[in-house]
Amino acid sequence: MAETELPIGLIDIQPETTDIIIIGGGLAGISAATALTRNGFEVTLISTHDRHPPDFRAEKIAESQMNLFERIGLGDVARAHTTAFDGVWVQRFGRIVERSTTREYSSDYSDLVNTLRRALPPQVHTIIGRVSDIQTGPERQEVILSDGRRFSGRLLVVATGLGDAVRKKLGVEREVLSPAHSLCCGFDLARPRSEFPFPSLVWNGEHFNDRVSYLTLFPIGEKIRANFFLYRSFSEEWTKTFRDHPEQSMRDVMPGLEDMFGDMTVTGPVIARPIELVRVHNYEQDGMVLVGDAFCVVCPITGTGIEKALTDVDRLCNVHVPRWFKTPGMHAGKIREFYADPVKRARDESAMKMSYDSKSIKTDSAFYWKLRRLRSNTLGRARYAVRATVKNLKASHPH
Ligand SMILES: Cc1cc2nc3c(=O)[nH]c(=O)nc-3n(C[C@H](O)[C@H](O)[C@H](O)COP(=O)(O)OP(=O)(O)OC[C@H]3O[C@@H](n4cnc5c(N)ncnc54)[C@H](O)[C@@H]3O)c2cc1C
Repeated sequence: MAETELPIGLIDIQPETTDIIIIGGGLAGISAATALTRNGFEVTLISTHDRHPPDFRAEKIAESQMNLFERIGLGDVARAHTTAFDGVWVQRFGRIVERSTTREYSSDYSDLVNTLRRALPPQVHTIIGRVSDIQTGPERQEVILSDGRRFSGRLLVVATGLGDAVRKKLGVEREVLSPAHSLCCGFDLARPRSEFPFPSLVWNGEHFNDRVSYLTLFPIGEKIRANFFLYRSFSEEWTKTFRDHPEQSMRDVMPGLEDMFGDMTVTGPVIARPIELVRVHNYEQDGMVLVGDAFCVVCPITGTGIEKALTDVDRLCNVHVPRWFKTPGMHAGKIREFYADPVKRARDESAMKMSYDSKSIKTDSAFYWKLRRLRSNTLGRARYAVRATVKNLKASHPH
C-alpha cells in the first residue's frame, strides 16, 4: 500500500479501535452498519458526506426487496418512508395484458438513503472524512483519513458503490464488461397521481428498431414519476432530442400511450444516466470485503440492484461475519467464503445474465435471438388471448 502522507505530528496518533470499519454511506453501507450493530458488533461508518447527495438511482422497490430490508432490521423505516402502491398494469402487443395487484414501493433514492441513515442505531460511530490510506492484513485493518484520524478494525467492508478511489488503494481492479450497455432516464409528469387509472404502469417497447426496453410510470407521493429504460448511448443524437423534447420522442416510440392515458407533459429536467456493466478482480484479500455496486454493477433494467446489494449485506452480516469473529484472524480464506456463498453467487450471476439477456432479446439480430423474440411474441400473444377468452367466458357465465 502507498506510504501515508500525513502532517508531521499526526503520524503518532493512536488509531481508534473498533470491530468493523465500513467505508461508504449508501444503501449497502448503511444497511451493513445497521445489521452488524444489531448482531452485537462495534461499527465505524466512514462517509465523505453527512447526507447522500441527490442521485438518480433505484426508485422502485419490490416486496421481495422490502423483505430483505426487513431481515436487516430496516423494514419499518423503509416502509414508513416509501410510497406504497398495489399493482402494475402491463402494456404489451398494443394493449393492457396484465393487471397485477402485488404491492410495490417507491422513493427518491437519496431521500431513502438519508432516511435510513437517520435511523442508524445510536451505537454506530459515524465519521465524515476522506480516506487517504488503507493498510490491510490477516489480523487488523487500518484506515487513515486525510485529516490524520486513524481507525483500526478486524474487518473492513468496502461499500463505495461506483466510486473507484478506495478500490484502487486496495489494488482491486475494475473491468467494464459492457460499456454504454443501456440508458436510464428519470422525469416527473405534470398530471398528478389521481388523474391516472393505474396503480403503476409498465409499457413495453413496441418495435425492434426503437431500442426501447420499457417505460414505467409509478407514484412517488402524489406525483407520477417516469423511469424510461433504453438501449441507447448517452451521446447519440436521439438522446439529446429526447432530453429536449421528451413528449414528442415518447409519442414517436409509444404512439398508443397518450391515446390510452391522455396528456404526458413532462415537468422538470430529464435526467439521463448511461449504464455500464462492471465486475472487479483481485478482490479476495486478507481483511476486507466488497459489497453492493462496489463488487459488481448490473443493468437497472433488471430491477435487481437493490436486491443484490441487500443480499450481500444479509449474507455477510447475518451469516459470515458472526462466524468469522468466533476465531482469530481475518485471512483471505475466511473472506473467500462470502464470495463463494451460494445465495450471493446465485443472485449476482442471475442479475448479470438478465442484464445481457434483456438487452439481446430487444436488440440482437443474431438468429438465436430472432427465434427467441418470435417464440416470446407468439407464446405471449397466445397466452394473453387465452386469458382474455377465459375472462370473457366467466363474465358471460358468472355461475
Ligand atoms: C439510474 C439508475 C436506476 C436504477 N434503478 C434501479 C431499480 O429500479 N431497481 C434496483 O433494484 N436497482 C436499481 N439501480 C441500482 C441500485 O440503485 C444500486 O445497485 C444500489 O443503489 C447500490 O447501492 P450501493 O450502496 O452499493 O451504492 P451507493 O448507494 O451508490 O453507495 C455508495 C456510497 O459510497 C460513497 N463513496 C464513494 N466513494 C467513497 C469514498 N472514497 N469514501 C467514502 N465514501 C465513498 C458514495 O458517496 C455513496 O454514498 C439503479 C441504478 C441506476 C444508476
